[in-house]
Amino acid sequence: MTTYFAPTQDMQFVINELTNISEIATLPAFAEEEIGTDLVEAVLEEAAKLATEVLAPINKTGDIQGITLNAEGVIPADGFADAYQNFIEGGWNGIGCPAEFGGQGLPELINTATQEMWNAANMSFALCPMLTAAAIEAIRRAGSDAQKAQFLPQLVSGEWTGTMNLTESQAGSDLSAVRCRAVPEDDYYRLFGQKIFITWGDHNMAENIIHLVLARTPDAPEGVKGISLFIVPKFLVNPDGSSGDRNDVHAVSVEHKLGIHASPTCVMAFGDKEGAIGYLVGEENKGLAYMFIMMNEARFKVGIQGLAIGERAYQAAREYAKDRVQGRPIGTKSGERVNIMHHPDVRRMLMMMKSQNEAMRALAYVTAAHMDMANHHPDPATRKAHQARLDVLIPVVKGWSTELGIEVASLGIQIHGGMGFVEETGACQHLRDARIATIYEGTTGIQAADLAGRKLHMDNGATMRALIADIETTAKALSRASHDDLTAISQGLADGVQALTEATDYMLGTDDMNAVMAVSVDYMMLTGYVCGGWHMARAAQAAHDHLANGQDSGFHKAKLVTACFYIEHVLPKANALLSSVKKGGTSIMRLTEEQF
Ligand SMILES: Cc1cc2nc3c(=O)[nH]c(=O)nc-3n(C[C@H](O)[C@H](O)[C@H](O)COP(=O)(O)OP(=O)(O)OC[C@H]3O[C@@H](n4cnc5c(N)ncnc54)[C@H](O)[C@@H]3O)c2cc1C
Repeated sequence: MTTYFAPTQDMQFVINELTNISEIATLPAFAEEEIGTDLVEAVLEEAAKLATEVLAPINKTGDIQGITLNAEGVIPADGFADAYQNFIEGGWNGIGCPAEFGGQGLPELINTATQEMWNAANMSFALCPMLTAAAIEAIRRAGSDAQKAQFLPQLVSGEWTGTMNLTESQAGSDLSAVRCRAVPEDDYYRLFGQKIFITWGDHNMAENIIHLVLARTPDAPEGVKGISLFIVPKFLVNPDGSSGDRNDVHAVSVEHKLGIHASPTCVMAFGDKEGAIGYLVGEENKGLAYMFIMMNEARFKVGIQGLAIGERAYQAAREYAKDRVQGRPIGTKSGERVNIMHHPDVRRMLMMMKSQNEAMRALAYVTAAHMDMANHHPDPATRKAHQARLDVLIPVVKGWSTELGIEVASLGIQIHGGMGFVEETGACQHLRDARIATIYEGTTGIQAADLAGRKLHMDNGATMRALIADIETTAKALSRASHDDLTAISQGLADGVQALTEATDYMLGTDDMNAVMAVSVDYMMLTGYVCGGWHMARAAQAAHDHLANGQDSGFHKAKLVTACFYIEHVLPKANALLSSVKKGGTSIMRLTEEQF
């Protein structure tokens, strides 16, 4: 049975040393919160208690028991409803939401650290508030004032939860194929159709469920230009705000899955009888743009899941490696048998896990800080610059971190040896849970296509080039350091910069979009490794400064060594990927369908 310890010291290190938290604290939106190291520490410590004492203990039991569907609807696993009450009573559901709707209005940066904890402690549970947060964001940005007043306070408090209803059997990655119908009637619409794979599409933990649904009105044009977004509550909302009649939307079945067993994945039937009443969000036919608000929010948070599961798997593997006695130290034939942490190859695996987790965390938290600046900085030009950086980074955080999450969870099994392959230790669950994160909210291929096909070209590569220039500045600054580790890090980072520059030149310089798409995942992963290396280098510099100032802590020494490991053993993957990118995927496209 694995336990979870929230790595609050690591989280605070990233927040305090690698992000512009002090600048974020001065933004007008956060002026009243008096955000400083004390507040960050207090929030993280409280969140850690909930994650470790309430959510983590029901992770494995939820995995074993799963959910059930009966005539009343979905029944969550034991302990989930109580944990959810605990979660919302603590105000955690709305910590990143605006105060005007009852939230605590804290920066996304702090919220991101709590997201990491919820997902590491219990990813199935965390999906429910994650989708509520995405629904809140879509209604807040695209809904009418009346819709905001009607739905946001209860969604923010968590009394109601939210869902995202995009997928239909013929419309997965390609949402242009959505067929669900919305027929106008009075001041609402009636929806008919079926959605599949809807996360937390039904449950009894909250009073109401607010579904955000993509559908087509009768005269809508074909394709993505004819999709509209609707709010479809499970229970209609009375004028006084209380829950009224049951709407014609039901979970008709639930999927049996590889992982996240305690998160219901529902087939939702809309309009089996008179039609489900739905309210149009914004204008007709602009639904996909609104849904993208929700998807971007969710994509970033799914990226956090890669990190979170990686951290959980690492902790389990580390504890097992300390405990498991096997063999003797290299070069000795007799004497005490030792724990497996003595073996260099086990250490290699642990370092792979630890260093990639730290790189993922740094990139994710820095990205969250861009979110705060993009959303709240008073100067429009500054907001625009942060938004541009964010647009490029979100597919990387989602695609790269979730791929790494699987790799790290798999290493966790390897460290457990045979015990990793049996369910008892819990290592299997981490890999099973991690596996979905590269699929939902847009597969890795879709994230890579977004980066290489859209984001990179939006400004002719200017945002990516500015990012590369920033990384190069760090590499150059480190090259002047008089410390062997930092000099070595600077050299490795300079090589990474070169790889990303050449890969970007290739991606921008070729007109063959088949070639661009064939190597897009390689390009996205390369970008992730180099961005991760950048922040590991910055972490090394910060740790070195603390050590130089006489803070001789094992924590800072470990940060420096972990950065060295990443630069020596992980970042060189960027060069291998560059070589693949430059081949332009020629062999990928050569076989005919019959030859596969
Ligand atoms: C557990 C779970 C929970 C989910 N939760 C939700 C939810 O809450 N709400 C919701 O609406 N949906 C949800 N989904 C659906 C999920 O978002 C889709 O499964 C996902 O978007 C992929 O769509 P698909 O399954 O139809 O795969 P497909 O689109 O059929 O893709 C199959 C393969 O083809 C590739 N591919 C497809 N098109 C392209 C392309 N243009 N370029 C390159 N590669 C391509 C994909 O990368 C993938 O490898 C969930 C799914 C699961 C399994």
